Amino acid sequence: MLPQEAFKMNYSWTCPYCNQIATITDSNVSTGTHVFDKNNKSGRLGLQTQVVVCPNSKCREYVLRASLHETYSYGGGVGLTEQALTSWSLKPHSSAKPISEYVPAPIRQDYDEACLIVSLSFKASAPFPVGAYRE
Ligand SMILES: [Zn+2]
Repeated sequence: MLPQEAFKMNYSWTCPYCNQIATITDSNVSTGTHVFDKNNKSGRLGLQTQVVVCPNSKCREYVLRASLHETYSYGGGVGLTEQALTSWSLKPHSSAKPISEYVPAPIRQDYDEACLIVSLSFKASAPFPVGAYRE
């Protein structure tokens, strides 16, 4: 799923915890926007956060995402550009599929770290200048 699609309502979604396919609506999603400037070198930016809660009553896990956007003014308000400058999966932390609790913790951690490294290498080759926002 592309990051910007994650912010649209009524889409089909696969829970990364229980792997069940669900239709995500308003009742499963919470979003927030944090617009800031404070004289930063990139100008006024908007950080959007999104929480998706798995509708499966036996799971109810939550997925956290965030994305950074340029902003524009309209009618006294502030909008965020649709294309994100960069985006993050905060929970689960990477593309790692959560491993059963029965797997010993050190093995689970190694797996998570390996997936995180793959995810970071992918970001490093992204077409937009991610490095400019790393400070
Ligand atoms: Zn689930």
